[in-house]
Amino acid sequence: MNERKRIPDTPALGKKGGKLHSKRVPLVAGNWKMNTTLVQATSLARNMLGELDGVNGVEKVLCPPFISLAAVHEVLRGSSVKLGAQNMHFEEKGAYTGEVSPAMLAGLCEFVILGHSERRQHFGETDQIVNKKIVLALKNKLRPILCIGERLEDKKSGKTEEIIAGQIAGGLDSVDATREIVIAYEPVWAIGTGISASGEKAAATIGFIRHAVGRLWNSNVAQDLVVLYGGSVTGSNIAEFISYPEIDGALVGGASLQPSEFVSIVSQTAAIKGGSAGS
Ligand code: PEP
Repeated sequence: MNERKRIPDTPALGKKGGKLHSKRVPLVAGNWKMNTTLVQATSLARNMLGELDGVNGVEKVLCPPFISLAAVHEVLRGSSVKLGAQNMHFEEKGAYTGEVSPAMLAGLCEFVILGHSERRQHFGETDQIVNKKIVLALKNKLRPILCIGERLEDKKSGKTEEIIAGQIAGGLDSVDATREIVIAYEPVWAIGTGISASGEKAAATIGFIRHAVGRLWNSNVAQDLVVLYGGSVTGSNIAEFISYPEIDGALVGGASLQPSEFVSIVSQTAAIKGGSAGS
């Protein structure tokens, strides 16, 4: 059965060609995860900065480890490349040894990745915890990149939409409708595996995500939300995803550690979505 038919009440897939809703600015974020020392992180940022800065029409975000945020912030100063953190704590401050608060990030970062599947899997983060973080991030003027996605067993048992709807309802519980949130659809089975979803399936699921957010908030805000695909994106497959109008960009893990790959992903996104490279 066509997977598209399993999503109730969602609009038909947009025609391939990539142009997106006029209010949505495409975005590509690189999640460096627990890679790079301080010296490696600044050098990686410096290696990409010139080319990334020359790409227009796409928001470009680098998310180094906490320890390197301040140094990478200095490297990016004055450029169009923005900084994001990979996580933050769910309280404002206090006796949480080793943790990083939203206020600590607020002066440095514009974005913060929240609810990444590796946090959910290895650190027991629930939708309730992610929800507390979303609320605090917004309060501290950080734009959350909320990661959601099904595990392989969920996909196999046909529960993709159920899982995603639950993550949206839980993660955005009591959050007022806002265009500041970016959602990253990241099927867990596609992260770091080299096995990506097909563009068509990712676009269909992102259509469902917008539909679910529209029911929770309203369809105007849902249509304006930037929604990314993440999961084994490379310079060789990015076009397959962003050719769909539903997909506004990518959250990139492994390939964001290779300057030429990441620049290629950003440049192709600009070209397909109507921005420009090198102007
Ligand atoms: C990620 O870390 O969010 C991710 C999508 O990783 P990768 O691109 O390596 O699959």
